[in-house]
Amino acid sequence: MTSKINPKWKAAFLARCPACGKPGAFQNIIKIADHCKSCGVELKNYETADGPAFFAISIIGTLVGFAAGIIEVIYSPPLWVHLALWIPITFVGSIIVIRITKTLMIAHQMDLKNRKSYKG
Ligand SMILES: [Zn+2]
Repeated sequence: MTSKINPKWKAAFLARCPACGKPGAFQNIIKIADHCKSCGVELKNYETADGPAFFAISIIGTLVGFAAGIIEVIYSPPLWVHLALWIPITFVGSIIVIRITKTLMIAHQMDLKNRKSYKG
């Protein structure tokens, strides 16, 4: 039985190479490696620019902003509780979103380059 999950999304959520689906696409926690350690595809040829940061700011900023507001209205905790709660959630959540969106953006660029009609 084949998986119904799109291979691009599966690679993105598992932080794997968008070309082969195996580990080795990341050089460190958020930096894409120059080439995949598994299949050797040149990942440095694909540019994500500020896209992943935009998605991290938009998604995590919105979620944390609303969650902090709701917690403040319901429980009114002291400031240190907000700091202890939302700073780590923002940091870890942003890293997760950046890894997912970087992989997705590279996978999308690979798809575009593989299309014969694409002139980019
Ligand atoms: Zn690969």
